[in-house]
Amino acid sequence: MTNCIFCKIGKGLIPSTKVFEDEYFFIIEDIAPMAAVHYLAIPKRHYAGLSDMQASDGDMLGHMFSTIGMLEKQLGVSGGYRLVINQGDDGGQTVGHLHVHIMGGQKLPFHDLKELR
Ligand code: 5GP
Ligand code: ZN
Repeated sequence: MTNCIFCKIGKGLIPSTKVFEDEYFFIIEDIAPMAAVHYLAIPKRHYAGLSDMQASDGDMLGHMFSTIGMLEKQLGVSGGYRLVINQGDDGGQTVGHLHVHIMGGQKLPFHDLKELR
């Protein structure tokens, strides 16, 4: 996707603080952190979101999640962390390229969904 921020970051056309990269995805620091530690795990392939994925993409997602699990210490979140995917407008997605927020480095507040009633 020519006009996608995360595709451009993946190709090195926009600078970022990359802390991990392999054939399938990379991890960067979020530019506007909402927790003491806040990274984004981003597939290299452009998926607009979860709704853009097929069953055959499950291996890539599984790889991404298990790799995050192996990197806990390196990412500074051994004490625990939260993975978040904001999907679509109602979910608060602002960048149209699938990404997983990795937040930790502190005791995270729990957002009570009952507040939405
Ligand atoms: P969303 O709201 O789509 O779930 O999350 C998008 C995230 O991308 C936000 O947390 C925002 O701070 C981050 N972000 C947006 N543009 C950039 C950028 O150019 N560089 C980095 N590192 N993060 C970005
Ligand atoms: Zn993209």
